[in-house]
Amino acid sequence: MSEPTGLHVEIVTLFPELFDSFLAASLLGKAIASGIVRVDRTNPRDFGLGKHRSVDDTPYGGGPGMILRVEPLAAAIDHVETQRGRAHRILLSPQGLPLRQAKAAELATRQRLMLICGRYEGVDERVASLYADEILSIGDYVLSGGEVAAAVVIEVVTRLVPGVVGQSESIEDESFSSGRLEYPQFTRPPAFRGLPVPPVLLSGDHAEIERWRRQEALRRTHERRPDLLVAHPVTEVESRLFKGKSVPGGGKSG
Ligand code: SAM
Repeated sequence: MSEPTGLHVEIVTLFPELFDSFLAASLLGKAIASGIVRVDRTNPRDFGLGKHRSVDDTPYGGGPGMILRVEPLAAAIDHVETQRGRAHRILLSPQGLPLRQAKAAELATRQRLMLICGRYEGVDERVASLYADEILSIGDYVLSGGEVAAAVVIEVVTRLVPGVVGQSESIEDESFSSGRLEYPQFTRPPAFRGLPVPPVLLSGDHAEIERWRRQEALRRTHERRPDLLVAHPVTEVESRLFKGKSVPGGGKSG
């Protein structure tokens, strides 16, 4: 296994306190405590304008709500990079490219990421033009701010950083890693309210268990996310697992 390389995340947010418990708990908390992951938070309010440290203003052209101004965000980003160096800058926005596992894997290879969180009706477009290396969305819905989206990016990316998740195996088999949803999982008891665990999982036959898991992963992907089969069609190996039966999303196996 490769040595932990570490990841440094800079969050630019008007609500740094929202991340307190998130960064302290579970795998991420441990990764931060052990130094594999470092997270710094910077508040554009500290770079706000005038006596009231204002960060927002009404939109040019009219319309509802307030827009985050470019100057406090620009000053916060410049400050972070003067102190700690250039980061790969990600602006969180519902208008960005959807975050996917492959993108997360790419981001996990970087050393410094900056997550820029918007609020209110959004962010002055010049932040995107001048600062964003990329714009990411966590889904086709609108949050009130970028903080939850930043937390999603941090969780998805850091668990791919070597050393954060204990057994590297547990990330390799996961949903989306190979264009399939993960197979169904069970633990004790062997039966609950009339629902038994599939006998093959209790058989001790590791080859059969592996075969069953790959079949079920394909079946589940076909049922719940057929779109994934378009990008990652059924393979020869998967077809053979079905031994003459009809293959979910792939016709009949030979
Ligand atoms: N008026 C904007 C629009 O329609 O595109 C939405 C602004 S939203 C209320 C405020 C902030 O929340 C955004 O600037 C962005 O940082 C964040 N945000 C909202 N939905 C998001 C999503 N799906 N993915 C990432 N960030 C999101």
